Amino acid sequence: MTLPVAVIGAGPYGLSTAAHLKACAVPTRVFGSPMVSWQEHMPAGMLLKSTPPASNIDAPQPGHTLFDFCQDVGERRFESDWDAIPVETFAQYGLWFQRRLVPGLERERVVSVERREGGGGFELKLDSGEQFAARAVVVATGLSGLARLPAELAAAVPDGPSASGPVSHSSQHSDLSVFAGKDVVVVGAGQSALESAVLLAESGAASVRVVARRKGAVRFGAAPDGQSPLKPDTPFGRAWSLYAFSYHADGFRHLPAPTRQYLVRRVLGPLGAWWLRERFVGRVLVTEGKRIVAARVESGRPVLTLSGEGDTTGTGAQSELHADHVIAATGYRVDVAAMDFLGPGLRTRLAVSAGGPRLGPGYRSSVPGLFFTGLPAAASYGPVMRFVCGTEYASPRLARAVAAL
Ligand SMILES: Cc1cc2nc3c(=O)[nH]c(=O)nc-3n(C[C@H](O)[C@H](O)[C@H](O)COP(=O)(O)OP(=O)(O)OC[C@H]3O[C@@H](n4cnc5c(N)ncnc54)[C@H](O)[C@@H]3O)c2cc1C
Repeated sequence: MTLPVAVIGAGPYGLSTAAHLKACAVPTRVFGSPMVSWQEHMPAGMLLKSTPPASNIDAPQPGHTLFDFCQDVGERRFESDWDAIPVETFAQYGLWFQRRLVPGLERERVVSVERREGGGGFELKLDSGEQFAARAVVVATGLSGLARLPAELAAAVPDGPSASGPVSHSSQHSDLSVFAGKDVVVVGAGQSALESAVLLAESGAASVRVVARRKGAVRFGAAPDGQSPLKPDTPFGRAWSLYAFSYHADGFRHLPAPTRQYLVRRVLGPLGAWWLRERFVGRVLVTEGKRIVAARVESGRPVLTLSGEGDTTGTGAQSELHADHVIAATGYRVDVAAMDFLGPGLRTRLAVSAGGPRLGPGYRSSVPGLFFTGLPAAASYGPVMRFVCGTEYASPRLARAVAAL
């Protein structure tokens, strides 16, 4: 009997990969909670930064774009670069895609993956207790478990960040209206920080302040009509570099590790969407060029000690910021050690480079039969893997590589 391939993850990458594997007639079992990052770890009212053409989950056959979904369910059609998609619509699109193309999804957690003793393939264990063998495993676990909290903030909350405590991570909120009447500090300057700040202000927070390390960090992108028509079009806007990242992602693997690490961090890095500026200015206070050098909790309220930019000793002029709550919108960091479902035997054999598993052609890791896609693949395939539109490049290639095993 042919062993199945296991796909771990049911976000855009897991669902898209599974649909492509099915089209290649590869027996597949798919696990995860469908679109959970979009339903439980992003705030209600959020709008996607990616444009409608850049927000399709890639499918092997036509008829499964965001536009097709809107048409099918009679929802307003999101099609132009000027339309911003509500997170709720995108999550519903993902669920619709799952029902149509991955109906056999198993809503279970994979608790462990190990190499099979004395044979090829892997042994997987589910939280139901079931154990089974797979001939290959595709890890598409996205943002799960990778939320990053700066050490200074982590030190203030020994039990970890929490939505109801003094300090949280932005991924712990799906409803920011619970902060109505409160003073909230948001740490970070990316889209998630700036949009969370706006949503907090709009839902009645008494005051909202964004704290960013670098001077001039709070910036917003250009509207679609501000882009040069002489540069090639990409899902992220018009630019030659973005064209290479979007359509020649395989070439990224051949760059030196420090260059890849730098590019994954900086390209398409922290920048608010053009449509957010108007809602932000005048509503949200900004403290830029200040580093958090210490944080503590006094009578249940967080207190941040800030130091000026460039003062690495922390001995320069310092100031304190008091609030009711601090939200760290400080992003995600790929760390193989945090993928605790990968057994120790696998993790020690996994070659790592530029902060992620080192991947070869077809998204293969150094462990035969183990593949990674989505965010964990960004260190090898570039910044496009951090976004939904990267499914177009990744999923058909990965499925072909798995089918060829
Ligand atoms: C606030 C915010 C806004 C964003 N906005 C955009 C945007 O506008 N456009 C864009 O393109 N991207 C955006 N992104 C990035 C986006 O989240 C990713 O591109 C996308 O979610 C990646 O999809 P994924 O399938 O890799 O992972 P996820 O969507 O994170 O899905 C992970 C899946 O893995 C499953 N899983 C995890 N561990 C296990 C396990 N052990 N067993 C079984 N299943 C498991 C989960 O249940 C889930 O189904 C945003 C991210 C954030 C945080």
